[in-house]
Amino acid sequence: MSYACPIAYESGRIRAAAVYCSDGRVGEHFDDFLQNGLGLPRYDRVALPGGPGCLAGHDEAKLEEQGLLDELRFLIEAHELERVVLIQHAACAFYRLRLGVDVERMKALQLADLVRAAFHIRRISPDLHIEAHYARQTESGIVFEPVAVE
Ligand SMILES: [Zn+2]
Repeated sequence: MSYACPIAYESGRIRAAAVYCSDGRVGEHFDDFLQNGLGLPRYDRVALPGGPGCLAGHDEAKLEEQGLLDELRFLIEAHELERVVLIQHAACAFYRLRLGVDVERMKALQLADLVRAAFHIRRISPDLHIEAHYARQTESGIVFEPVAVE
């Protein structure tokens, strides 16, 4: 049985991509932030466990890092990206399980990793505008805090 999605298709590209964790519990929050908070409808989604943590030079994520850089290279050329948004989120299972990081140390490492990730992306495309944000839970939802990576 087919399903007809009621959302109209628009072919124009926004020339922006977001790199974030694939955790489905925050997927709709990321969409809302990017589409409504940053004004980026139809942004390209680059989602994988740990998100930008896979661009920070960790030995535990070498394969992911290579794959992610290849994907970004493709999007930069094929979709003419001008802007990349990096998002880390609190209590990320990738940091806890793959990198073995305690919750107490996690945020500091995630913020440092955003700077490292931006550095690695700039090496493949120096002219891209790169910005970063940290998402944390509150009692009523998720707050996105800007993180300086320039
Ligand atoms: Zn995560």
